[in-house]
Amino acid sequence: MKGIGPKSLRLLEKLNIHNVNDLVMYYPFRYDVIKRSDMEMLTQDDPIIMDGVVENVPSLFHFNRKMNKMTFRMRSEEQLFQVIIYNRGFLKNKLVPGVAISVFGKYDLKRHTIVASDLRFGFLPDEVRVEPVYHVVNGITSKQLGSFIEEALHMPFDVVDYIPAPIASHYHFLEKEQSIRAMHKPQNIAMLKQARLRTKYEELFLFMLKMNYLKNKKGKERGIKRNVSYEEVEAFLERLPFHLTDDQKKCVDDIYHDLNDIHKMNRLLQGDVGSGKTIVAFISMYMNYLSGYQSALMAPTEILAIQHYESLARLVEGTNIHVGLLTGKLKAKEKKALYVGLKDGTIDMVIGTHALISEDAIYHNLGLVITDEQHRFGVSQRGNLKNKGLFPDILYMSATPIPRTYALTIYGDMDISSIKTMPSGRKPVITTVKSLKEITWVLNEMLRELKLGHQVYVIAPMIEESENSHLENVKTLTEKMQKAFGKYFQVGTLHGKMKSTEKDEVMNAFKENQIQILISTTVIEVGVDVANATMMVIFESDRFGLSSLHQLRGRVGRNDLQSYCILIARKDTERLHVLEETCDGFKISEEDFKLRGSGDLFGYRQSGDMSFQVADIKRDYSILLKAKEDSEAFLESPLYDSDEYKYVKNMIELAVQLD
Ligand code: ADP
Ligand code: MG
Repeated sequence: MKGIGPKSLRLLEKLNIHNVNDLVMYYPFRYDVIKRSDMEMLTQDDPIIMDGVVENVPSLFHFNRKMNKMTFRMRSEEQLFQVIIYNRGFLKNKLVPGVAISVFGKYDLKRHTIVASDLRFGFLPDEVRVEPVYHVVNGITSKQLGSFIEEALHMPFDVVDYIPAPIASHYHFLEKEQSIRAMHKPQNIAMLKQARLRTKYEELFLFMLKMNYLKNKKGKERGIKRNVSYEEVEAFLERLPFHLTDDQKKCVDDIYHDLNDIHKMNRLLQGDVGSGKTIVAFISMYMNYLSGYQSALMAPTEILAIQHYESLARLVEGTNIHVGLLTGKLKAKEKKALYVGLKDGTIDMVIGTHALISEDAIYHNLGLVITDEQHRFGVSQRGNLKNKGLFPDILYMSATPIPRTYALTIYGDMDISSIKTMPSGRKPVITTVKSLKEITWVLNEMLRELKLGHQVYVIAPMIEESENSHLENVKTLTEKMQKAFGKYFQVGTLHGKMKSTEKDEVMNAFKENQIQILISTTVIEVGVDVANATMMVIFESDRFGLSSLHQLRGRVGRNDLQSYCILIARKDTERLHVLEETCDGFKISEEDFKLRGSGDLFGYRQSGDMSFQVADIKRDYSILLKAKEDSEAFLESPLYDSDEYKYVKNMIELAVQLD
């Protein structure tokens, strides 16, 4: 292409633009509407777009070599504005009185001044204009990129429309090519809206098509057909020290049906911290055992693995079930014995970390894999199981409830069971938002709990102070807590930079009540169960999302003792009050997403899947629902297998392979 030299080429490559097709498909992320502001509508500090003629010779003031400030008057019909613009000193010679200009900036009503961020020569166009704004990298401006794209739009490029014709005509969508052009250079706002709608729909349609395809495919994968008798399961439930909640029962039922069905299970079990997912997992393992297969439960950390192992061992005490534990701490000999047991089938249930599905672990007949706390299998791990000739049923457990809205996209390829109510007898954690000024009150609260023989968690966002952050941190808080309580209580520290053996030591000491106050970063977040801890104090809590705070709070209130959570915040306290009002993780995550948007979803599922160019699953949820319905119908229809739409099918199958 003309005008694109090696330097621009390199910059474009950074944007993943390698050819003309990529260029025309690189859509603006936003549009500026160029329209003369209506002065009567403006209030203090509103954005303003105004044109006029320069009234006097600008005065220029240099702060230093790079920074300067220019001031002049602009006459706009019957009004005079003061205009201030920074770092455009180089324009001074052109800004002679009488020259027509347009300025873009902020309006200071009180001083009748425009603080301009941009200045162009000439008056504004009479009709409203829409200008695309592109995401760029250093070295290229949105304007330059726009002109490359404009050039590309004059060249031949491929137009591949992934929306099947019957659907496109049902919605009266623009033609794809027309839509591409309108995305960059809309003739008017109505046209732009249509183009954006079409583009969003196409993205979401393809995404949902892929999700539905995966779900179908996984749903059709043959798994193990068991014949578990419900009487035996019920007899096992009788042994439990408590009755399952209704939600737990429903989840057990879902899993029971999955296991007895020939199709492979691919299910997510979600529920708040402490809602009782673990017992559901154990029951699943028991059902799997009844049909003669081995189960593996993977925990994210060793501490959790040990914790699960201990409760499972207790549960099956007095039965013939053999339970194993695989951790990094095992001596070579013990490890070997464990591997032998897995291979010859003498171990029925095994709990451990990721090592459970490593190359070394060979199973006699692995029928069920459960992963705790939302880390899903990556491709390589799934492959690992396949290579071993294993096709176990899979259950994922997650303590981060996802609002229904988002579950569809994030977990669209799985079946979902939810536990929404807590076991009865659980007291909600009393939660209070406080400012740093009220620290004396906080310390007194801590003291009260400590005197009762209970333990306290103290959380800070950072390990130590740094140049650009003077937030409370683990290091200084440890010193402070040591000063306040060290005489009578043990203070311990836990953070992500410690070796995992050190972390385990501290955590165990806390579990054994050798430490009463544990100062930690959020590494504590994952699933640890110390029933005697009744207070959670979180410093700088405005730094955290509501869901993270809720997760942290879930570390306490794990038995019938009254527990407390104190959120110390500098600002943003309005948002935090939600946590004072409710302990319902589903509600809280809904609130969190409302406030922070779907960007955070990336954290839950690291995958290119979620990155849409134009669509936003939150704002465009209704489009997503349509796309879901339509893609389901399309997959079922003969069209999907027809030659006409072979390219759609190929695209989906390729995308799935690459995933
Ligand atoms: P999760 O894994 O969902 O965070 P757990 O499975 O660790 O929660 O359960 C928390 C605690 O609640 C455990 O001590 C467990 O024994 C107990 N529990 C689970 N289900 C019930 C129930 N139906 N009634 C009473 N206690 C229960
Ligand atoms: Mg758990």
